[in-house]
Amino acid sequence: MKCKPTDSQTRTPAPRYVLTISGSDSSGGAGMQTDNRAILAGGAFPLNVLTAVTLQVPAGVIAVKCLPAAFVEQQLRVLLQAYPVTAIKSGMLGNAVIARRVADVLTDFPEIPYLLDPVLRTTCGYPLLDCTGTLIVRECLMPRATLTTPNLDELAILANRAIPDNDAMIAAGRVLASDTGRPLLLKGGHRGGSYSRDWLLYPDGQRKVFSARRVDSINTRGTGCALSALIAARLARGDRLEAAITYAKRRLGTSLRAQAQHDWRGAGPAMIENPIDP
Ligand code: PLP
Repeated sequence: MKCKPTDSQTRTPAPRYVLTISGSDSSGGAGMQTDNRAILAGGAFPLNVLTAVTLQVPAGVIAVKCLPAAFVEQQLRVLLQAYPVTAIKSGMLGNAVIARRVADVLTDFPEIPYLLDPVLRTTCGYPLLDCTGTLIVRECLMPRATLTTPNLDELAILANRAIPDNDAMIAAGRVLASDTGRPLLLKGGHRGGSYSRDWLLYPDGQRKVFSARRVDSINTRGTGCALSALIAARLARGDRLEAAITYAKRRLGTSLRAQAQHDWRGAGPAMIENPIDP
């Protein structure tokens, strides 16, 4: 006689959990909202630690309120206890006290891959992290990160030097990778040209370029959030670093191309895969 399969035999396995530590963006274009869409697109399930609430509209940032650091730490510790988290991603941390608490908790979980998007300000220049917080990112979080993904502005601030050209970008990235002992993905997206090139730099000086045809679009909000969240999702699913980056660039490119046609009355979001009917 054949036994009926038990419930646990018929159920599919639990999803891969990616925990994001980020700020909410009321306009939905960046921050936690984008992280969640990108993580789902990458085939994992998002868990959320909220650091701040930002009030944003197409004209810009209206207000930012950071949550109490002790509550951010509580969210992080409770979720890490309750779920088998397979990757962590951080974006907007908001202030130095929160950055410090996050750094302390992450040192207690050294085995979990950690993607660090060093969000310092919005594309329009509104600050999302203070100076002491930036130092904590540089001194405590970068040495813990599996990968840090600075754009050119963030690289200039973290390396404390001007980045006038490609050579200066690679030189600054090399110093940071060697000082922190961890790889960096330098996002050359703001540099212009018909290709968008990102440089993966390892602490031992090895490097690899990821190149994609530039998408001509103003709908690029949250591009950095989406890229790092997609990489985190793939690491959570067991991809190696370079495979995860290749996947993330391709998937983001597909979304950017789809969004380029949409009129968002200003800069629209980069990462949406489901068609939205007018
Ligand atoms: N997180 C929040 C809450 C933001 O508002 C922003 C930018 O507006 C970012 C992160 C960074 O976004 P991006 O991916 O464009 O660097």
